[in-house]
Amino acid sequence: MPASAGLYLHRKLPGELAGLAELALDLRWTWHHGSDVLWRTIDQECWDATHNAWLVLNSVSGKQLDRLAEDPAFSALLSHQLAAYDAFCQSPTWFGDTWPDALAGQVAYFCMEYGLAECLPLYSGGLGILAGDTLKAASDLGIPMIAVGLVYQQGYFRQEVNADGEQLEFYPYNDPTMLPLMPLRDDQEEWVRIAVDLPGRSVRLRVWIGRIGRCRLLLLDSNDPRNEPKDRGITSELYSGDPEKRLQQELVLGIGGWRLLQHMGIQPSVVHINEGHCAFALMERIRALCSTSDLSFDAARTATRTGNLFTTHTSVSSGFALFPTRLIDQYLSGYLKDMALDVNTFLQLGQRAGHPHDDFNMSYLAVRLSGRINGVSRIHREVSRHIFSELFPRWPLKDIPVEYVTNGVHTPSWDSPEADALWTAACGKDRWYGNLEQTRVPFSTISDDNLWAMRATQRHRLIRFLRARLHSQHCEHGNGSNVDAACGLLLDTDALTLGFARRFTDYKRPDLLLTDEPRLLKLLHDRDRPLQIVLAGKAHPHDSCGKAIIKRWKQFIKRRDVQGRVVFIDDYDIGVATELIQGVDVWLNTPRHPWEACGTSGMKVLVNGGLNLSQFDGWWAEAWRPEVGWAIREDATFSQLSSSSEHDGEDAAELFTLLEQQVVPRFYDCNPSGLPKQWLAMIRASMETLTPLYSANRMVREYTERFYLPMEAKSHERPPEIARELVQQQRLLQEHWPLLRFGTLEVSEQADGLEVSLNVYLNGLDPALVKVELVAEAWEKGGRAVIGMRREAALSGSTRSYVFRCRAPARPLEHYTPRLVMGDRRLNLPLEDPHILWRS
Ligand SMILES: *Cc1c(COP(=O)(O)O)cnc(C)c1O
Repeated sequence: MPASAGLYLHRKLPGELAGLAELALDLRWTWHHGSDVLWRTIDQECWDATHNAWLVLNSVSGKQLDRLAEDPAFSALLSHQLAAYDAFCQSPTWFGDTWPDALAGQVAYFCMEYGLAECLPLYSGGLGILAGDTLKAASDLGIPMIAVGLVYQQGYFRQEVNADGEQLEFYPYNDPTMLPLMPLRDDQEEWVRIAVDLPGRSVRLRVWIGRIGRCRLLLLDSNDPRNEPKDRGITSELYSGDPEKRLQQELVLGIGGWRLLQHMGIQPSVVHINEGHCAFALMERIRALCSTSDLSFDAARTATRTGNLFTTHTSVSSGFALFPTRLIDQYLSGYLKDMALDVNTFLQLGQRAGHPHDDFNMSYLAVRLSGRINGVSRIHREVSRHIFSELFPRWPLKDIPVEYVTNGVHTPSWDSPEADALWTAACGKDRWYGNLEQTRVPFSTISDDNLWAMRATQRHRLIRFLRARLHSQHCEHGNGSNVDAACGLLLDTDALTLGFARRFTDYKRPDLLLTDEPRLLKLLHDRDRPLQIVLAGKAHPHDSCGKAIIKRWKQFIKRRDVQGRVVFIDDYDIGVATELIQGVDVWLNTPRHPWEACGTSGMKVLVNGGLNLSQFDGWWAEAWRPEVGWAIREDATFSQLSSSSEHDGEDAAELFTLLEQQVVPRFYDCNPSGLPKQWLAMIRASMETLTPLYSANRMVREYTERFYLPMEAKSHERPPEIARELVQQQRLLQEHWPLLRFGTLEVSEQADGLEVSLNVYLNGLDPALVKVELVAEAWEKGGRAVIGMRREAALSGSTRSYVFRCRAPARPLEHYTPRLVMGDRRLNLPLEDPHILWRS
């Protein structure tokens, strides 16, 4: 780890204030607000404008620092915070207490983006926020995790929408020395540099390190003056449209990232890749093993993959990151030589079997190098099974090896000060940091008055924020001259406030409310029970459809008869999200079922007492009950993937009906003391039952208990000699495969079911290498059956045919189909070997 933080501060701090640098560089201040008072005291204007403690410290005047160094009140505040920070660093954790010796090599977490703080713009949206929340929760729980990513000089674009509704995109430069990061230096104080070869040259990568409480984030940066000019820009922006640049970024992240871990002496216990972009890390893991052992590529892949977890977030095949094979050839042929792997063999790892002209798919590569795979909600597991079924030809969907862990949000990062106070009163200060059992304490100690007062305070703050933001957005509703007055009239502090913020893209249907303008206007105009709406969101720079939707909303907002009841806030980011999810009464989400892999923004309102009105999809399809919120088309079932808009009309109608008949009346249905009793009951149910479940705390514990720990154990069962043996067996199976066949099937009815016997011709293959199963799909009288068949003696007179036998529940015989698959229990099947033969 690098030496003391103060060393890299651009300026000298007075000795009394030295501890400030340590505090400023730990992003724990993004959720633990104890030190806010320090930054505010040092430079209120800078802190309010940037929420960047490191920048505050670097930019404040020396005079102010000298003054504070002599101020006893400030010194007392500082010592108190430093003591609290020390106590935090020493304190026991859930993981440390429960598994003191596990995951000693750490979990290495790879992601293309990280959304940790408003002032660290290394993310574009949900994927990055999820990665950021994961690290924060891992810190809370004490899970040994080290993350790897890229530092972008420009990050994702910043948005402004002009008066005509056109989205303008800006790419302001981030000076990494002003971000809360430190250069990573080695024992000799030299800045660590990692090299990655690209065709004809070597790119040097500098490394920055960020602290997220107990976890570390390593960020690679190609902007080194010693690199060729074109390479300095490899890490310039996030999700560039140029495939060659994206390939360069993914190579830098995966290969460079793995080399960096090795350079630091880290041999991860488990590697977790968050989305397929990072799959080159798994290649480099293999290459490193090949170079230090005499394992072949196949054996090294088999030896390493049990420790690799791949989380997929895609819900449509077209969402996959693809590269033309020509680019892969150009960039990787030299690299692959080290593993004695030819390019065509490698290409097959990113293509469907038998489709050599497919583009190279990074998610396919990830599947083929991983030991386990998961989607991010229950529905998304089914969707992912469809998407990946092409990699497991002839396997039923139920057997496609995708599991799921539903996403969650880092509750302490998203709660409001008022919600924090309320939860502390109900469940204590450390409620989010353990196993959440104590968090089930009911809210019965909190009165309806207090709960409703909390909601009002939050909504008022949101409206204040919106008016200020709109003022600087030139207040599109003002009739010209008096902007102040016009903005002051915008929105109503006591009106039912609906929020919708997300990426503006077709399948999320941000325009569903616009499909019936008269009905929408009626809701907005209701004199006694008005609805008001806050919108935000960016459209990808190349998404003309998303941009058109922004324009439509802006035109609608401009109409005189909208009366300032709908507003659009530019530049949706963590800062804007924080304000919205704390202040809105209802959070709206309208993706086309089943396209929302999970969705997390709706989870952020839970802790703050907001309610969800959402399409029955992603996490909401698991969480929804009538007591906690509203679901659109709650009977939607996932059958097959289609991008069709066939349900749009129906969904819009249902959304309006829900708003008119349930949401609005319930919000305004108050008792004589002004309390909406039914609404408050829903808030209680939603807060109490959903907040702990849809937290990153629950998610990270699930990853730990169901994946990291068992995967670590499994890796120990696969030393090089076992990996070699497994590869050898798979070769034998492959050789014999074309000649294996089924013989006679005999069935006799017994009192307790069917007695089935089957002859199988194995062509001299060791029968221990195969498994024969009898499969029947679910029917009206019962579930699916997969019954293993016992091998008996070889058929008399043959050494190549065997009898397999089993007892099966009584069902029509044609329900049952025998199949033959790889038989070694040490492999995770069918992920590691998709051979399958059905008796037709
Ligand atoms: C939470 C969040 C997201 C992800 O929300 P979805 O519900 O998945 O759309 C995206 N952007 C920001 C800024 C967020 O805070």
